[in-house]
Order: sequence, then C-alpha cells, then structure tokens
Amino acid sequence: MKLNLYNTLSRKKEEFTPINDTVRIYSCGPTVYSFAHIGNFRAYVFMDTLRRVLKYNGYTLKHAMNITDVGHLESDADEGEDKIAKAAKKENKNPYEIAKYYTDIFLMDFDRLNIDRPEIICKATDHIKEMIEYVSDIVKNGYGYETSRGIYFDISKLDKYPVLSDRKVDEQIAGARVEIDKEKRNPEDFALWIKAPESHIMKWESPWGLCYPGWHIECSAMSNKYLGEEFDIHTGGIDHIPTHHENEIAQCKGRCGRIPARFWMHCNFLTVDGGKMSKSLGNIYTINTLMKRGIDPIAYKLFCFSSHYRNQLNFTFEGIEAANKSLTRLREGFRNHLDGNDEISDEEILEIKSRFEEAINDDLNMPSAMGVVWETIRCPKKSRKIAELLLKFDEVLGIKMDEKPEKEVDIPEEIMKLVEERNQARKDKNWELSDKLRDIIKEKGYTVIDAKDGTKLEHN
Ligand code: AMP
Ligand code: ZN
Repeated sequence: MKLNLYNTLSRKKEEFTPINDTVRIYSCGPTVYSFAHIGNFRAYVFMDTLRRVLKYNGYTLKHAMNITDVGHLESDADEGEDKIAKAAKKENKNPYEIAKYYTDIFLMDFDRLNIDRPEIICKATDHIKEMIEYVSDIVKNGYGYETSRGIYFDISKLDKYPVLSDRKVDEQIAGARVEIDKEKRNPEDFALWIKAPESHIMKWESPWGLCYPGWHIECSAMSNKYLGEEFDIHTGGIDHIPTHHENEIAQCKGRCGRIPARFWMHCNFLTVDGGKMSKSLGNIYTINTLMKRGIDPIAYKLFCFSSHYRNQLNFTFEGIEAANKSLTRLREGFRNHLDGNDEISDEEILEIKSRFEEAINDDLNMPSAMGVVWETIRCPKKSRKIAELLLKFDEVLGIKMDEKPEKEVDIPEEIMKLVEERNQARKDKNWELSDKLRDIIKEKGYTVIDAKDGTKLEHN
C-alpha cells in the first residue's frame, strides 16, 4: 500500500519512497534547560507515530535525534543569552549538570509515553569538532564571513531564501525588534559560530578564537555525520519552519550544494486557551503534572491522536481525563476479545485491517485510524483473531493495549475481601449470601462481573 506524507517543502502530500533500503530520519530534539512540557511531547508523539508507521510498512530505520545542550539563545534571531548557561547561573550549577539533569528526565518521560527511541541520540557538545569543520567548509565555499561577533552565513549567496515558507524576508526585518548589526552583509544573515565574551561559560578553541556554536549548525553537522549529505525525512515543530530549518537548509546548500532532506515534516502546536503552550509564556504542564492527577502518561498519546498532527490541538483537563478513560476502555475491550470464541472470517479481519492501513498511510491520519480501532473494539463478535488484530494496530499506536486496565489494578482491599467472601459463597452454592454480597459491593461503587476466567470488577 502507498504511503503518502505531507512535505512542507512542496506544500503537498507526496508518495514516500526512501533513497536507500534504510529510511534515514533526523529529528530536532529538546533544548535541555528545563522540564520538557506536554507541548514539546506532542512533537515527539508525532515523531514516534512516524517511526511506527514506517516500521509497520516494513522499513528499517536509521534515525538521529539531537539534544541541544549548547547554542540555543533566548531569541531565534541570535539575540540574548544561551538558555543552558542562563539556567546554570540561576540554579547555581554548571551547564553540563543542568543539561544532564533535564536530559535524564526527558528520556524518562519518553519511556513513560512509550515513545520508540531513535537509533541515535546525539548531544551538541559531543560534536564541536564536526561543527567547526562544517563552518570552515561554508566559509571556504564563500557562504560565510567573519565579523567582530562571529561567523555569519551570507544569505545573498543562495539561489533562493527562504524555501520552506513563503514569508517575506523584508517584512520580517521591518517588524523585528532586533537591533541592526551593521557588520552583517544582509539583515537576515545568521550566526554560524559566535565569539564568546570573557564571562561566557561554554566556549571552545576554534580557528576564530574561543567561540560557541550558533543553534542551527549542530543539526547540520550531526545529520551530516550520522545520515550523510542527503537523507529521507527531517522532522520538527512548525516553529522550526521559518528560522531553524530554513537556516539548516541554507547551511547545507553552502557546504554540500543541496537541501539535506527530501521530506520536511512539521507538527502543529499544542495550545492552551487558544495560545501556544510554551515555557516562556509560563502556561506549561508536564507529564508529571498529569501523573499527579492520576492520568496514565500513555493517555496523552490518545489525546494527541484526537487531532491530525498538522492541526492545532487545544489542551484541557476534561480532554485528557476523557482520554484516560478511553485508554481503560480500550484495554478492557481488548481483553473481551482475547476471551472471546465467536467466529469471524479472515475477509472481515482483512477488511478492517486495510481501512486502518489506509488511514495511517494517508499522512498519519490518526483520528481516522482511531475510528477504525474503536469500531474494532466495539465489534459485537468477540474473538481472539480481533485481539490479535488490535495488537497489530498497537504496533503503530504504542499504547500497550495488552496492559491490565487501570480499574482491575486499583481495587481497595475492603472490596477485594468482599469479593473473596462472595467467591467462597458461590463455591458453597450459597446463592443468597452471594447475591447479598454482590449488592453490598455495588453499594460501595463496584459492579461484579462473573466471567469465564474469574470474577471481574468495574466502577459503577
Ligand atoms: P525546544 O525544547 O524548545 O527546542 O522544543 C522541542 C520541540 O518541541 C520542538 O520540536 C518544538 O517545535 C516543539 N514544541 C514546542 N512547543 C510546542 C507546542 N506548544 N506544541 C507542539 N510542539 C511544541
Ligand atoms: Zn534542529
């Protein structure tokens, strides 16, 4: 079956075919100066779904994701302090401690969401040598020049800039609040390599003195090192389109004469009250916030699947709580099929499977795929064949469909004792007592279901 993906570069859906046997992907990872919020994780849930859909289609992957532990300044326009260095000062730690602390928590949340890890996770500070070489090549090729502040990219040397968006460079400059740097040849020229002031904590020896990297160069240097000059797919959030990814493309054109990736895929924002969820706006929630409210982190995945990745998604607690309940219902529904003996034909199974595949291969249309999943769960025929199909779907969803539903795990001891007493009464064929105990349990908020493999309980 054809796999179609939306390419920001061509502004349309295109049939995906890889350059070689292995699909090579690069994803822009987190800047580890603070806790990643669930808005950030929307981008990684999207990345996870992409990985899983490609694997479902039989592809082997080589996927690199960076960890930005230096060089991301407060403003994308090369202004302000380095975010990691600023956090280090504030928390009275060294920048490497800050980066390690938040990277570890980020990866723990990654696992809590059951996100399939990229084959390569690479840190900017481990690739200073590669970045210096990359910048040197750009300068050698005539695309870079030195000023008193650093090495800048000369955008006027490019055939076209920007290529990913149709924003007007002149309009952007007129509206920008950034002070004009008179040494720059063009106002949109951006920093590749920045000369470090005396007080700057993170800096490295280079042909241009003690410096630190601009934000965009790490992704060009690392994608080139691990995936080569041209690879298949580059992912990120839509906020990367106008500056970060545009400048990655410029850098690669300057060094290698080409756009580095064939497909550029971007995930839209998670919003709160209609505005972007972001650290700088202070309206963030983390995976930890959700867990404290008794929400299974995986329910956040289901919440993300309620909207196509290219549309905005507004976060509400009602929404995530509904997703949490849905997760339990899906897992219960799966169990009902696992225990079922009804007949279902192979044709019926194939028909459902092909509709699911059509949805995921239509630019990862998860709302539509979830429609098929719910239909399958609700199928009146209960059959192990359907349970097996659901497990196949779970290769894409990654929601641990076969995990015990929350409700079964979380029963108070008092109720469990009553259930045991009732089971004994049933064994003794004391139906009167058994019925009485069932009513008591019901009054306490639980419904007893006598299934083939034992007694089950549900919240009323
Ligand atoms: P950062 O750690 O700020 O570099 O961001 C990491 C990733 O999260 C990037 O791919 C961003 O595009 C993405 N991102 C940041 N905020 C949001 C949001 N509110 N919704 C979706 N993605 C976001
Ligand atoms: Zn990047």
